[in-house]
Amino acid sequence: MSLVENLLKKMVLEKAIIDKKEKLSNIVYKVRIKSEGIKKQDFEPGYFIRLGIGIGNDELSMKDKVRSYSVWDINKTEGYLDLAISTESRGIGAQWVEHCKVGETVYFKWKKGHFLIDNSADSYLMIGDLSALSHLYIINRNLPKSKQVESLIYSQDSNDFFEDINGKKPFKFYQLEENDIDEILTIVKELVAKMKGNKMVYIAGYSRICVPLNHYFRKELHWNSKQIKIKPFWNPEKKGLE
Ligand SMILES: Cc1cc2nc3c(=O)[nH]c(=O)nc-3n(C[C@H](O)[C@H](O)[C@H](O)COP(=O)(O)OP(=O)(O)OC[C@H]3O[C@@H](n4cnc5c(N)ncnc54)[C@H](O)[C@@H]3O)c2cc1C
Repeated sequence: MSLVENLLKKMVLEKAIIDKKEKLSNIVYKVRIKSEGIKKQDFEPGYFIRLGIGIGNDELSMKDKVRSYSVWDINKTEGYLDLAISTESRGIGAQWVEHCKVGETVYFKWKKGHFLIDNSADSYLMIGDLSALSHLYIINRNLPKSKQVESLIYSQDSNDFFEDINGKKPFKFYQLEENDIDEILTIVKELVAKMKGNKMVYIAGYSRICVPLNHYFRKELHWNSKQIKIKPFWNPEKKGLE
């Protein structure tokens, strides 16, 4: 292990143990990590972690040592958090989750970002793919029950969808081709027409879906930037965004 990695481990990263691992669907795993630090962590729905999946593996380049994953659920009393990791990418993160084992040590860093819960609207639209589902689930679970929530969660195979941590399925799932922006826009228009009061949209996942949707809400619907929460999670020309 390099000197830089040793310093990262000692001074920057937190340490946790993989406490549970479960296959949620053909291509999605749930991973629970546990540590004393999680008990004391300041947290808002929308936080994510940078997980050092390649720390200690000298064969990997620096850019392949870390991947970002949203916190799907946190239990500060018991000191654990849950992640939902999709393997569709078949990259280093996907390989890590397929092979990681309960009891192993992992290193991570907390990230806050701007893709956080915002209670200020009356109605919400959640749009994303499997990589974004856990993030949208935790936002939705923590919104007051009085809020209207519409949703469009898409995947090419309907068997890949998974339910929320509490066993509920609050979102509408659509079986769509990966890049089917025309169909997504058609559905979005129907859903927006149902939304009441002050509106807000959360968009995450594939960058090539996020960009035209951002354009649609901003330029055609003239929504302001506070109403559009957007975060590309992956891009075909890049490895491990953010
Ligand atoms: C803030 C943030 C939160 C995130 N939260 C989650 C999360 O909770 N769960 C999760 O699974 N991912 C999440 N991601 C994405 C994650 O960080 C990785 O980018 C993703 O898992 C791919 O990593 P990889 O090493 O397997 O593939 P990489 O080596 O990064 O990529 C290999 C190839 O696969 C493509 N690719 C990447 N992701 C996908 C995908 N989902 N479907 C199809 N092709 C893909 C890439 O564009 C690239 O061409 C998040 C990203 C960000 C920025």
